[in-house]
Amino acid sequence: PVIPDFENFKRDIEEIFEQVAPHTEGTPDEDLYPEGLENPPFAVSICTIDGQLLQLGDHHLSFSVQSISKPINYGIALEERGEELVHRHIGREPGAENFEKGMVLNLDKLPHNPMINSGSIMSGCLIRPDWDNEKKLEHVMEVWGKLCGGKTLLFDQKAFEREMKASHSNFAMAHIMMENGAFPENTDLQKAVEFHYLCCSIGVNIDDLAHAAATLANYGLSPTTGSQVFSHKTVRDMLSLMLSCGMYDHSGQYAFKVGIPSKSGVAGGLIAVIPELMGISIYSPPLDKHGNTVRGVKFCEKLVEKFNFHKHDAL
Ligand code: GLU
Repeated sequence: PVIPDFENFKRDIEEIFEQVAPHTEGTPDEDLYPEGLENPPFAVSICTIDGQLLQLGDHHLSFSVQSISKPINYGIALEERGEELVHRHIGREPGAENFEKGMVLNLDKLPHNPMINSGSIMSGCLIRPDWDNEKKLEHVMEVWGKLCGGKTLLFDQKAFEREMKASHSNFAMAHIMMENGAFPENTDLQKAVEFHYLCCSIGVNIDDLAHAAATLANYGLSPTTGSQVFSHKTVRDMLSLMLSCGMYDHSGQYAFKVGIPSKSGVAGGLIAVIPELMGISIYSPPLDKHGNTVRGVKFCEKLVEKFNFHKHDAL
């Protein structure tokens, strides 16, 4: 096994979990949790590339993937359309979608990278552009199902409806992209923005996400079903951009301090991928000012204090 003394590892992880649990600060996303959360849930799930599992906390709860859909849609677009075409429409530098500073797009007038909303709207357009959104979503959910160890996932209709009601800035951004010629020809903006929200509303639990992260850690090969979901090269590209751009405007600091390719979503989920070792997922809805789960970030910081999982730790 990749972790020979799993019991010992489990004890260390439990200790980190206990240290992070009291951090209930932060604010859940108001569209997704309008009724607030008295006792914010906290769960961690780890799946190694040889299928060892560790589950802590409220791991039965389901939630929407939100931005964790971004690396997946980017991967699907890469597989289907190729790197050259995809990056004719999306950059690969970290960068904020800063409306106030007018920096929504990069100097080439493209989304900065696939891990932010503009890039997500674009990846979605590059996936099966001729299909309607229903069929496109089915297709993406099938890939997610394979990533999660052969499951049929549910769709979070409530999250979708709440988010669509607060979609003005994404439409604004899509209009700016359109005006600047970023999209492929014949792109329908309504369909493009809606597809972004549809993919954000895919429902998972923490164990599903740990499986998906482990499949990425295993360079696309599912540790449980043995199916090759993405090619090695695609996963390399996904992980590179998760490392540099996966944590909103905290990405640079996080890459410095934690150094693990990760992606967070505003429902409170986070995946962290330790290549050739394990996938980790964390769920806790209160978010920091950047939109990252507070406990998720704390957990990963503590993890690299204990283990040499930072990309530039000596192994
Ligand atoms: N739900 C977000 C939106 O407004 C995107 C997902 C996220 O940031 O996690 O489009």
